[in-house]
Amino acid sequence: MDNKVSVTKCERYSEVQAAVEKAVDMLGGIEKFIKKGDKVVIKPNLVSKKKPDEAVTTNPDFLHAVIVMAEKAGGDVTIAESPGGPYNAAALKGVYSVCGVNEAIKGTNAKLNFDTSFTEVHFPEGKTVKSIPIINPILDVDVIISLPKLKTHAMTSYTGAVKNLFGTIPGTYKAELHFRLNERKSFCSMLVDLHECVKPTLSIMDAVWGMEGNGPTAGQNRYIGLVMASANAHALDMAACHLIDYTPEEVDTVYEAVKRGLVAKNADGLEILGEAIEPLVIKDFIKPESHFNLLKLISLPASLNAWLTNALASKPKINYSECIRCGECAMCCPPKAIDMSSGKPQIDEKKCIKCFCCQELCPKGAVKIHRPILNRFMVKFIK
Ligand code: SF4
Ligand code: SF4
Repeated sequence: MDNKVSVTKCERYSEVQAAVEKAVDMLGGIEKFIKKGDKVVIKPNLVSKKKPDEAVTTNPDFLHAVIVMAEKAGGDVTIAESPGGPYNAAALKGVYSVCGVNEAIKGTNAKLNFDTSFTEVHFPEGKTVKSIPIINPILDVDVIISLPKLKTHAMTSYTGAVKNLFGTIPGTYKAELHFRLNERKSFCSMLVDLHECVKPTLSIMDAVWGMEGNGPTAGQNRYIGLVMASANAHALDMAACHLIDYTPEEVDTVYEAVKRGLVAKNADGLEILGEAIEPLVIKDFIKPESHFNLLKLISLPASLNAWLTNALASKPKINYSECIRCGECAMCCPPKAIDMSSGKPQIDEKKCIKCFCCQELCPKGAVKIHRPILNRFMVKFIK
């Protein structure tokens, strides 16, 4: 089991080339991962059309640095992503433009992917899914480099290296998986299956600026000042979670990987190269409102569970003063729980599976996370 994670300081994106190369050098150098003439696909996090300074997507300077490094090693680079929402050439064009990817490839030979075909990949080893639709540019390449951004996530608490691969699933199939696996643990188990199926060669995390609070798109920017890398995405996530003060048990993708023996049991078992994480741990990194699950802290008779789960769970709530009535939330909602027939979005709480896709993809940040007062009070009291 590879538990090596390299950690390098990077004060600002103008210094990211040296930081990225240093992080990969500590893992053995880019030549260990890319041979001359290799087809390389780089998968950044381009979840939605957000400008680089919003700290939602992989920073374009960061992406540029990785392209330059991969090309120096002789790689033939393509950038590919299936962002949130529809997966078509027009959507990709918009995302590449707004997220700064067009600038990131300037001065390089990297190509942008506009091929929206995909293949149903059979994965009999999967624990939760045995077959996964994956976008074609990710398949049939020699090297996959994943560039996650360190952020919180309303549904999964944290999004990093493993969750970044959800962007290898074509548009509407993401909603289908959310709908089918509407419970967080099974959804995260699917993400671990997906990771094992795609198996990126290398994951390099943009942790220069991350996001805290109600991420992955509507939280607050948080300066972290690091670049982290690993050939094992689970180890990278374990290290990043430790950095922002999550235990492995608090993040289902990490805990599932621990249970499957894909990573060390906790951060003590990681082999950290470069900066020690312990002195850098950010104790006050703000977690999403939806992270606080009372039912994890107390045990109750099964009969009370369903009622309490609903009564205490955080829910999406629309702030109509920020809403522009675009209907994106209704389009992305897996169980079709959002009705636009009155001209404004209305959420049917009975249908809502609390996946927070609406919160993630609302272009105006108008979908908030409502955490019941009873939940706030009891979590504080029990803690
Ligand atoms: S996506 Fe956001 S802005 Fe658009 S209708 Fe839904 S809540 Fe309103
Ligand atoms: S309303 Fe929002 S949180 Fe609820 S199911 Fe739809 S997209 Fe998911």
